[in-house]
Amino acid sequence: MMDCLFCKIVAGEIPSDQVHADDEVIAFRDIAPRAPTHVLVIPRRHIPDAHALTDADGDLLAKLFGVARKVADDAGLSEGYRVVTNVGSDAGQTVFHLHLHLLGGRPMAWPPG
Ligand code: AMP
Repeated sequence: MMDCLFCKIVAGEIPSDQVHADDEVIAFRDIAPRAPTHVLVIPRRHIPDAHALTDADGDLLAKLFGVARKVADDAGLSEGYRVVTNVGSDAGQTVFHLHLHLLGGRPMAWPPG
């Protein structure tokens, strides 16, 4: 997926401010943060969005949330945080490589706009 921005970040071809990296998952700071903590948690493997996940991805999905938990703990988000994944253009998805937005450090409105 050489035209995928996040695949290029995984490959190290585009720089990122990484806060976590392992053999399956990386996490890096969003370039346009919407909260004091705004980190993107992504699989190294190209998956377009959450709609493309299958039963076989259960372990990977748990790992993505586990990394989000670690990042939240490291950031001291003891009062809570939000995990969001946009699916498709109507939801505001702009990068079509699965990612969890981890947002925290301020109160969040509900529902999202
Ligand atoms: P979404 O709109 O849900 O697809 O989220 C894509 C996110 O990627 C947006 O919040 C962007 O600010 C973020 N983003 C785009 N390019 C980069 C980049 N080079 N490094 C870090 N975050 C990025």
